[in-house]
Amino acid sequence: MSLRIAITGAGMAGVSAGRLLPDCGHRVTLLEKSRGCGGRCATKRWEGHLVDHGAQYFTMRHSDFCAAVQQTCGESLCRITAPVLDENGAALPDAGRYYHRDGNSRLVRGMAEGLTLRTETTVTDARALLGDYDRVLSTAPLPQTAALFGLTIPAQYIPCLTVLLAYRGEPTGLCREAYALSDLASDLPWSACENHKAGRIATGCTVLVAQMSEAFSRRHLELPPANYPGLLRAMVERRWGLCSNNFLAGLGHCWRYARVAQSHAAPALPERCYFAGDALTASRVEDAWLAGRAAALNMI
Ligand SMILES: Cc1cc2nc3c(=O)[nH]c(=O)nc-3n(C[C@H](O)[C@H](O)[C@H](O)COP(=O)(O)OP(=O)(O)OC[C@H]3O[C@@H](n4cnc5c(N)ncnc54)[C@H](O)[C@@H]3O)c2cc1C
Repeated sequence: MSLRIAITGAGMAGVSAGRLLPDCGHRVTLLEKSRGCGGRCATKRWEGHLVDHGAQYFTMRHSDFCAAVQQTCGESLCRITAPVLDENGAALPDAGRYYHRDGNSRLVRGMAEGLTLRTETTVTDARALLGDYDRVLSTAPLPQTAALFGLTIPAQYIPCLTVLLAYRGEPTGLCREAYALSDLASDLPWSACENHKAGRIATGCTVLVAQMSEAFSRRHLELPPANYPGLLRAMVERRWGLCSNNFLAGLGHCWRYARVAQSHAAPALPERCYFAGDALTASRVEDAWLAGRAAALNMI
């Protein structure tokens, strides 16, 4: 029997499920509130640069995910070769940090090619979809999924204030040496130099992405994102040894549901309704893809 299936959300989990179901003879419609797909696998065109301000890179540990990525990206699949250094300057283990040459959101967009996708479509009541569809799969983060079903689902997500900073001049010093600096105990646990992704940054510029800690993000959660660059710039410049006089531009973004604190059990939803997302496993692109696929298989 061919089922009509609505998928709320066209991030990695939604697109992964949406890719598999038509192969099994079902008719899928993806409903996405934003202008495009990708969700937290997000890329921005900014000041002449192409910057991943959500997922920085993806891993390819699972062979099925690896095959799906290779098929989608072809020659656009790239690997970051420069190291991530810890607070003592030691390189962290590298099991493969990959990116899509044209922006990580392109990985999801590529996987969504050929699927029925309605963008700028915000679902407000997921149960109402059951009038037009036989099954509903929500891939919105759990607190948003709960609202769509009028439920309370206990779920703990960690917010992340993110800032993009552009500087005059090609990368020098640490920016040349390291792709990213990690310092888990600090307010700035992750900052990365996007110049290590080939072809992304305009000639003569250096661009950094900084992601703030849970504690810092919670403290400043209600601040307008326009204020983030002013708040964080000095911290990032100190860490990377950048000269403040070369500062060109900054952009802030608030991820309210950046990642889950721990994996959650699948929520109890009404009959014929399902959930998939990184909340069921871990907050990684690869895990979202696996969760979407598992939910699709479970549904049918
Ligand atoms: C700052 C940051 C850095 C990260 N870094 C990495 C990294 O380096 N490596 C890595 O592997 N992972 C990283 N992640 C995690 C990774 O991005 C996520 O785990 C993964 O993208 C989650 O996919 P998803 O499909 O489960 O959810 P999402 O990507 O959040 O997709 C859900 C979709 O649902 C849509 N939606 C929500 N509500 C509605 C509604 N009512 N109606 C219609 N649509 C709706 C949203 O717009 C969104 O597109 C990072 C995440 C963040 C935020």
